[in-house]
Amino acid sequence: MKRWEKNVRKVVPYTPGEQPNQPDMIKLNTNENPYPPAPETAEVFEFFDADQLRLYPDPTSGTLVRAIAQYYGLKEEQVFAGVGSDDVIAMSFMTFFNSEKPILFPDITYSFYDVWADMLRIPYERPALDECFHICKEDYCKENGGIIFPNPNAPTGVEMPLADIEWILVHNPDVIVMVDEAYVDFGAQSALPLIEKYDNLLVIQTFSKSRSLAGSRIGFACGNPELIRFLNDVKYSFNSYTMDRVTLAVGTAAIRNRDYFLETCSKIIKTREWTKAELRKLGFQFEDSRANFIFAAHKTCPAKTLFEALRERHIYVRYFAKERIDNHLRITIGTQQEMEKLIEVLKELLALEENECNQ
Ligand SMILES: *Cc1c(COP(=O)(O)O)cnc(C)c1O
Repeated sequence: MKRWEKNVRKVVPYTPGEQPNQPDMIKLNTNENPYPPAPETAEVFEFFDADQLRLYPDPTSGTLVRAIAQYYGLKEEQVFAGVGSDDVIAMSFMTFFNSEKPILFPDITYSFYDVWADMLRIPYERPALDECFHICKEDYCKENGGIIFPNPNAPTGVEMPLADIEWILVHNPDVIVMVDEAYVDFGAQSALPLIEKYDNLLVIQTFSKSRSLAGSRIGFACGNPELIRFLNDVKYSFNSYTMDRVTLAVGTAAIRNRDYFLETCSKIIKTREWTKAELRKLGFQFEDSRANFIFAAHKTCPAKTLFEALRERHIYVRYFAKERIDNHLRITIGTQQEMEKLIEVLKELLALEENECNQ
């Protein structure tokens, strides 16, 4: 070991889903939206004046923050914007999780939380989901340094009822509770209305999934103005000019088009419900999902076998080689046509498997 090495911050990084690039692929592995972003976003690129890029962007992300506040009927002081919700959550960990006591998040959840906690040297505990992959609210009633969970949870898709979230808030008035609502727009209930009542609640959302802008990197947090002020103080101490001018304009254009947003979300929900019924017919089992993905296990065929066989046919889904979930596939909801193709291929694969077993 080199002598300087003991002073290096060593981290085990998060592994994002692969970004394959096959012309004929069906990409259902990273929960992206299959539909394009609102048409107004294309106009931003068409009319953007490159000369503007000489100047730094607005460090407060003012136009975007105001547009988000307006959309949700909030005050500007209740909104913080960042470079994707990954950036917003990392900033929030840095700002609010500074206790000696462990923060709490589920054993099966977004696999970035433990990476940030390790990197920032935040102690943590991971209460186990129950057999059906539901969060047990009682596990979040012990002494802790803060709480975070996605709702719906990832990669399970399971929604926690708003009453349970409020129960957790009532039992944790002395720490910050973060609800990561990356998938809330696909039919779950948002905790946003609760920020008026609980000054320790931070609700985090993203433009990456429901607003089709994973490539732009826009996320935001809503909470009490005091929380937002603390978050901004940390952000300005770290990297004050976060989002670039083009992204600010794109995000602002996207959030102003409510009808397009509602329409794409409802198309995805409809396809998701169709896919659930088809998967059940094929012998898949899963908890009810309120997200833009389904987390499913097959009754007889191992998930890894299916994952690899699909991959050979350029259909990409997500497989996690992790305890408790290594027989599940996380399948993002694509267009109706893509899901029909997936079901057709799964039918073939499962028939092949069955033949092999019977030989
Ligand atoms: C996708 C995702 C995020 C990150 O989204 P970005 O805004 O693209 O950084 C955060 N939390 C969960 C649970 C997610 O699935």
